[in-house]
Amino acid sequence: MVLRTEITERPPLLRSINPATGEKIGEFPNMGKKEVDEAVSRAKEAQKFWAELSFEERGEWIYKFKEFVRKNIEDIAEVISQEKGVSRMEALISDVFPILDLADFYIKNTQKILRREKIKIGVWGLLGRESEIEYFPYGVIGIISPWNFPFSIPVGQIIIALMAGNTAVLKPSEFTPKTGVTVKKIFDEIGIPKGILEVVTGDGYTGEMLVRSGVDKIFFTGSTTTGAKIMKTAAESLTPVVMELGGKDPMIVFDDVDLDITTDAAVFGSFFNTGQVCASVERIYVHKKIFNDFVNLMVEKTKKLRVGYSKTPYEYDIGSVISEKQLEKVKEHIENVIEKGGKVLTGGRTNKLFIEPTIFVDVDHSFKAVREETFGPTAPIMKFETEDEAIELANDSEYGLTASVWTKDLTKAKRIASKLNFATVMINDNLITHAIPQTPWGGTKKSGIGRTHGKEGLLEMVQIRHIHTNKMGQKMRQPWWYPFTKEKYEFSLALTNLLHSPSLKEKMSSLIKIAKEIGKVSKQKL
Ligand code: NDP
Repeated sequence: MVLRTEITERPPLLRSINPATGEKIGEFPNMGKKEVDEAVSRAKEAQKFWAELSFEERGEWIYKFKEFVRKNIEDIAEVISQEKGVSRMEALISDVFPILDLADFYIKNTQKILRREKIKIGVWGLLGRESEIEYFPYGVIGIISPWNFPFSIPVGQIIIALMAGNTAVLKPSEFTPKTGVTVKKIFDEIGIPKGILEVVTGDGYTGEMLVRSGVDKIFFTGSTTTGAKIMKTAAESLTPVVMELGGKDPMIVFDDVDLDITTDAAVFGSFFNTGQVCASVERIYVHKKIFNDFVNLMVEKTKKLRVGYSKTPYEYDIGSVISEKQLEKVKEHIENVIEKGGKVLTGGRTNKLFIEPTIFVDVDHSFKAVREETFGPTAPIMKFETEDEAIELANDSEYGLTASVWTKDLTKAKRIASKLNFATVMINDNLITHAIPQTPWGGTKKSGIGRTHGKEGLLEMVQIRHIHTNKMGQKMRQPWWYPFTKEKYEFSLALTNLLHSPSLKEKMSSLIKIAKEIGKVSKQKL
């Protein structure tokens, strides 16, 4: 088999750079197959011991981790702020703070969610049988994560994996290796045994090696294109995957909203983290009655946003984008709007890796900025007239991550929410639910497969073992075992009618036949 580019000139080191200043932050090994395989084998070894711990014992380790993060929250946020080129305030509220609540949720609830449970088996239960479900860990979870939330995304998955009895190997993005290494350092600081969490720094090739390494499940968060590549690779070994992918999230605004609050939300939802959020508002549909007022107010507020980077945690609202590639993608979308006759009402200019928050109107679903994930600080605003039209426009996308509906009429909002083909629909809010660990996170269509967070995310970290007990199994043989005989055949027909005939008379006569024959039938043996 030919593997992806194991080329001799593959650089041995990754250089982490602050994209806002160009300053070098550090160098990290660009690991290859050998280092990845070694990390996975340490994790496999450690998992044997880790799985034997009780939920309380695993919870005690996660609590230590949580406390360390709480006490060092500003230092951790500073690492993220530097690697991403965004303000420390942004890094703190979006990337570190949510992890504390997530840790609490899984410390308190993992045992409850994963407890052994009896399942109802209908008529089989009456025949002296019993079925139970128990959950057991996969083994080693491979986590491949993006740069946009380099702490909260992988750490959430690590905590859930660990609480469920797995160990984990993380491959952070090549743009944020220092944050990945920081996660490992925190686990080392609290003294967790070797191998429980491993971090392998490197590029896409390192990620591919992790997929090929024999890990028991892959949790991937990143672009839809890379997700498809990873699924293909994982399919070769039938390694299961959870995919958290891109989005093109719509915001539907009705004419009864509080304009001031809703435009604040639209500005935040579109531009937070420089628009580099999978759940960013990427398309805004506003009822035609309030369209002009909404647009004017949103433009006025957007002009007040401060673009830049400094060490003061709250001096700027909008940081840089992560890379040249990201800048080019956003510029391409802006240029496409201009070429096709759309209007740029504010923003549109770039300076190094900074992009002014940009608002478009006179655009429709033929524009790149409306169809493709931009992942930058842009907001296309369009008009709608009826509820059905809003639903149709929102659903007209290959993505299905999050959507939001804005109105004071909650009955209407819920009715609409149930018609939106998105994995999360927020009513009068946006962006927030990834930070609410009790709720499932995932996507429909090209936005993903499977879930992280919530009870559903925990269940992705375990396998199901069904234990079935035949309590009569040592007392009698089954009527369908060999040898096949005329009596057994007739017994089977009677059983079919007893269970499934709609006629009471037929049921009764079948029951009598079964009662009469069961002794004989069960004695027929090889
Ligand atoms: P990418 O898909 O480019 O990269 C994600 C991760 O995959 C990185 O660690 C990357 O390594 C690695 N990788 C790249 N190629 C391979 C490969 N062939 N095999 C294994 N691993 C590989 O995404 P970005 O980092 O650019 O993140 C942005 C994307 O992530 C957006 O589309 C966004 O919507 C999505 N996202 C989705 C979220 C969700 O929850 N649904 C949340 C956050 C982001 P390297 O960095 O070295 O290339």
